[in-house]
Amino acid sequence: MMKRENSEALYKEALEHIVGGVNSPSRSFKAVGGGAPVFMKRARGAHFWDEDDNRYIDYLAAYGPIITGHAHPHITKAISEAAANGVLYGTSTALEIKLAKMLKEAIPSLDKVRFVNSGTEAVMTTIRVARAYTGRNKIIKFAGCYHGHSDLVLVAAGSGPSTLGIPDSAGITTNIASEVITVPFNDLDALRQALERWSDDVAAVMVEPIVGNFGMVMPQPGYLEGLCSMARANGSLVIYDEVITAFRFHYGSAQTYAGLDNHDAIQPDLTALGKIMGGGLPIGAYGGSKQIMEQVAPLGPAYQAGTMAGNPASISSGIACLEVLQGEGVYEEMERLAVRLTDGIQSSADRYGVPLTINRIRGAFSTHFCNHPITNYAQAQDTDGEAFASFFRHMLDRGVHLAPSKYEAWFLTTAHTDEDVDATLEAADDSFRAMSQG
Ligand code: PMP
Repeated sequence: MMKRENSEALYKEALEHIVGGVNSPSRSFKAVGGGAPVFMKRARGAHFWDEDDNRYIDYLAAYGPIITGHAHPHITKAISEAAANGVLYGTSTALEIKLAKMLKEAIPSLDKVRFVNSGTEAVMTTIRVARAYTGRNKIIKFAGCYHGHSDLVLVAAGSGPSTLGIPDSAGITTNIASEVITVPFNDLDALRQALERWSDDVAAVMVEPIVGNFGMVMPQPGYLEGLCSMARANGSLVIYDEVITAFRFHYGSAQTYAGLDNHDAIQPDLTALGKIMGGGLPIGAYGGSKQIMEQVAPLGPAYQAGTMAGNPASISSGIACLEVLQGEGVYEEMERLAVRLTDGIQSSADRYGVPLTINRIRGAFSTHFCNHPITNYAQAQDTDGEAFASFFRHMLDRGVHLAPSKYEAWFLTTAHTDEDVDATLEAADDSFRAMSQG
């Protein structure tokens, strides 16, 4: 057993001062049997070190943003230079234009963008803009997709809340909940019925085009085409939440990902971004066609603002991160390592008779303790949470840090190596063996 006495002491202290001891509920170990989460003190590349000086291979990647590994020199330099020049001006900068152009080049449906500070803000504002543009109120979303913690999208939300067993948050009025319709992902009939039932009231259909919040789940062939054409026929906008997916699978987003066909037919009206595009500093962005984005203040009636929005540190970090991702073969290499990992993990699970379904999309994958495929949230819920918790703890004790939830993905970074993969596979094999021995 790895000793984590300092983490345990810090957790006790944190509980006195920080609600639940954590600044985001997904960091708590509640879903994996409770107890002290690991307190990290430093990170570099694909590794981090805790307060007891244990080293872990990191597959959290901070829930997505750290795709280049920790403290990447190019990003660190950009952030240091930005800090030395003053971290916040409250004025416009040339840097903002540079990152906006990079986003537009990579994601063609973006004609105009606006920077905000988090994925939550980005999503929240796309909904406001869609309502302003259509003059309608309701949104349709998909069970298990997570879109941040603003009121509207916390109705029947995904990974964090479902892990904790609170499908709806307290403090959200029934009026707000009544503006949201939730249907199953990958089910066009359910969407059709919802659109027929609430036709002229539906401002937007909001979706993670490739799901990252109940594992990694691809839309079935034709699903996004169907979703977009039905929404449009109803006069509703399509909003893609690409907070996880943008720059995750290739230099671009799900809208142009080679694993999805017919790109013309799956372009959204509005896109929400975050995570990777900030290189690890707080950021979000949203954008869409000129016509729709002109709803936003100061041009239009939909208000959205931010003291920290577009701050030079986050923007510089984002530019540097995207520059690293423009490097030759970076996505291919993450995929190569992910294939090695998933092949090895699956064969160890099979060897010890542990039921396991793995969904992998390039350098990201999810491990579901079950024998069935995972194409929607109900299937992801119907998996063995205790087996996941046991696997999580065995892996942690062997120096591999996964996200403490059966719904979260493993993320490869450009910093992971074959050596990390070898060590992880050894840990996984040991873990499955220990699990099979009860
Ligand atoms: N949308 C998606 C798809 C997400 O996965 C998340 C965060 N996990 C968010 C929005 C919210 O982003 P943030 O935590 O930066 O507010």
